[in-house]
Amino acid sequence: MIAVLAAEDECLAVREFFELFKTPWEFYRNGTRCSVLICSRNNIPANSAKIVLLYDSQENAFDRASRLQIRSRRSVAMLSHNGSRIPVYGNCLAFEASGTSVVAHESSREPAAVAMTSGKQQVVRIGFDLFQEVQYLLTHGQPASYAEIPTLELHIALLRNLILECSIPLVEIPPVPVGYNFIACLTHDMDHIGIRNHKFDHTMFGFLYRATMGSMLDFCRRRKTLQQLGANWLAALKLPLVYLGLAADFWNQYDRYLEIENGLKSTFFVIPKKGETGLDGRGDRPPRRAASYDIEEQKDLLKKLQSAGDEIGLHGIDAWRDSNVGRQEQEIISRITGVAETGVRMHWLFYDERSPAVLEAAGFTYDSTVGYNQTVGYRAGTSQAFKPMTVDRLLELPLHVMDTSLFYPDYLNLAPIQAEEIMRLLIANAGRFGGVMTVNWHDRSIAPERLWDTTYVRLLEQLQSSGACFLTAARAVSWFRQRRAAVFEQADDTLKIKSPVNGDPHLPGLRVRSYRPDVGVGKFSETQLTNGREIRLTA
Ligand SMILES: [Zn+2]
Repeated sequence: MIAVLAAEDECLAVREFFELFKTPWEFYRNGTRCSVLICSRNNIPANSAKIVLLYDSQENAFDRASRLQIRSRRSVAMLSHNGSRIPVYGNCLAFEASGTSVVAHESSREPAAVAMTSGKQQVVRIGFDLFQEVQYLLTHGQPASYAEIPTLELHIALLRNLILECSIPLVEIPPVPVGYNFIACLTHDMDHIGIRNHKFDHTMFGFLYRATMGSMLDFCRRRKTLQQLGANWLAALKLPLVYLGLAADFWNQYDRYLEIENGLKSTFFVIPKKGETGLDGRGDRPPRRAASYDIEEQKDLLKKLQSAGDEIGLHGIDAWRDSNVGRQEQEIISRITGVAETGVRMHWLFYDERSPAVLEAAGFTYDSTVGYNQTVGYRAGTSQAFKPMTVDRLLELPLHVMDTSLFYPDYLNLAPIQAEEIMRLLIANAGRFGGVMTVNWHDRSIAPERLWDTTYVRLLEQLQSSGACFLTAARAVSWFRQRRAAVFEQADDTLKIKSPVNGDPHLPGLRVRSYRPDVGVGKFSETQLTNGREIRLTA
């Protein structure tokens, strides 16, 4: 069992950290018996733990008593552990080399964590504040420059390694559904629905330029094939016929999405009001943010998507900043879909630190806005759905990949082959850490002039061959909720794990992973935890 003695202001972050690293733990109280003691910004109390992990970015009593010299203190550091880079966003110490260095500063190679043995106990002194890092990641998020690093997952992996290397048995419920390697969540923000909704506006002129001149340039840069160039020119020529109703609206690609996804089930986020720009963070109304479609006229389309098993969520306009407006926006969608509980992703990813509480007050069950516009990766440092610090129930399903981030000239500006390469890295991380990979491919992205359908099809093939479990956003969030609801009860040498009785029987199950130090470091066995059941493990 792990006991945690943390500073008072870290308690929420401790709780959330251990929902993500789903392993038995408790807060330390006087006399708590434990094999692992985590001390954060505290003095080490008398204890009989096999290993003490002391996280603190300030010099403390332990350092003075053990004559551990601090060489420097930095704000923002890049650490290196077992070949992984771990950024630290708060203060981080560098120690004089004494004891065994377990984590080093990447550039100077100075130890950022040292292991020392005193009697039968090992103490690992770690020079940063783990739970402040967790709080920072889940609240502010990482800068885009470190987007590719799943920092929070690496903090969990580091802690797990330190415990296992001490030959301490460990049990966890990994974020990996039974029968699969991770969850894939396919989503589509419905920003346009059709080009017919755009006559003589900036969207239409933008399309005509990009389909003709832009495609020509892309062809010269080998970003588009000759066939794609032809398809775009033909689309530009056909535009008057589309407006006259004599040709199909090529921006309406929903049947094609159903065909490509072929039963994989995805989530479509729809804008509730036509012509509403909403307010941005400065209180301005960005005119180009307004949708040109009226969702009330799209009921048949939504019904069709729902009957194919897809989910409809809200693509919110002002829900991120005002819970009354959020409730209205949600009601519009609920009335059309007939589904009471709705999830949300904000249009243009508008969001601030108040948004989780505002969205929870408006009644949303999950949000999926926390991601980057300009790049792909892990804004909150995690591949798992998490509960933001300021809410009781709402879960955040982080967004990892957007098509526009990959291809827009102002963003990553990648060629298709480069985009596939970067997504392969994210899929490899999903295979390593589990969790969910959330993808947003916009509604018109598989149509002229973008024609990003080949990349999307390849992505689906890669996800399938890597063992992804495809769930809609709401069902992915439900899976994480079921995992969060599992309870550990330790009595003497027996560990009981209970799963919720009323869980969804159609969701994939939870795994219980038991690490076996007697067999080897990192070796484990697994059993399945089924609904309403409990299992007992003897230490
Ligand atoms: Zn949008």
